[in-house]
Amino acid sequence: MSAPAPIAFVSQATASEVRQWVSALQVAMPEERILPFDQLDADQRAQCRVAIVANPDPVQLKRLPQLLWVHSVWAGVERLVADLGQTSLQLTRLVDPQLAATMAEAVLAWTLYLHRDMPLYARRQREHCWQAQPYVPPERRRVSLLGLGVLGEAAAAALRQARFVVSGWSRTARAVEGVQTFHGPEGLAQMLAQTDILVCLLPLTPHTRGLIDATHLAMLPPQAQLINFARGPIIDDAGLQAALDAGQLQHAVLDVFAVEPLPPDAWPWIHPAVTVLPHCSAPTDRETASAIVAANIRRYRDSGEMAVNVDLRRGY
Ligand code: NAP
Repeated sequence: MSAPAPIAFVSQATASEVRQWVSALQVAMPEERILPFDQLDADQRAQCRVAIVANPDPVQLKRLPQLLWVHSVWAGVERLVADLGQTSLQLTRLVDPQLAATMAEAVLAWTLYLHRDMPLYARRQREHCWQAQPYVPPERRRVSLLGLGVLGEAAAAALRQARFVVSGWSRTARAVEGVQTFHGPEGLAQMLAQTDILVCLLPLTPHTRGLIDATHLAMLPPQAQLINFARGPIIDDAGLQAALDAGQLQHAVLDVFAVEPLPPDAWPWIHPAVTVLPHCSAPTDRETASAIVAANIRRYRDSGEMAVNVDLRRGY
């Protein structure tokens, strides 16, 4: 039997990052040959049916004429979905319990940061101001999740364990133990009206781009707070700035932005009611991600099944 065609690793990452990914993937599946796109010869390109990608150049994917299946090592695939457009390619994104646990930890950590008024106490210290806020127990703090998928559900469990009152919103109706769930546009308005801390864990799609705009922000109770760990363009930038300027929104923790790295002159850097994070809430773990990709590829070699989990028409 002839050896299967090599698997292409297609990425616009730096040469050193590409080397680290290829090496981790190769360790996870020694039975396969993983080659960076640049190292495939013309015959190998012509045979290649599977590509593992990390922010790939779509032109390179088009140069693999037999390609059937694209497996991303990232959880968010909005750029890939947009770049691929109308295609018969099958698409898989990373679903990794390690990543979900990391995100749940980040959601809990930054929720506690807002819940225990850390931005306020940091400011009071700078002003030499000795003044305590009234204590609000977590049982009286309403934390709402936009998105109840893999990451939203993990975050909900961590928040519940910390005794917060948790709600969640999704596209389709969902039941999650101990979580008040909402869906659809009416459900969003209802949830926002009963939210103290809003956490965004939605995918970026044509439906979610700009979704949290001035109108939706105005549905939050006065002094609500926001955490965006999903994608920058889901929150309307001008609406957010206006709500923070007006004090209608008390504080925002922003990990993701329309342009990354955040440009030095961007307003969030110096806004007193914003905490800027450098897209660090839940980085992919190269080792666990490689093990998951390897398991999916082994299943494909054994059964032909591609572990597809992205619906290109839906956009996530
Ligand atoms: P997922 O499992 O696909 O879950 C997405 C959730 O959003 C689902 O509950 C889905 O509803 C809901 N949703 C999608 N479109 C919607 C709409 N138009 N209206 C209402 N709800 C909608 O995704 P995930 O794995 O949880 O990841 C979410 C996002 O997190 C990723 O797309 C990525 O952008 C981001 N992320 C960020 C980082 C970081 O470091 N900052 C790391 C990893 C991932 P249904 O349940 O009805 O399908």
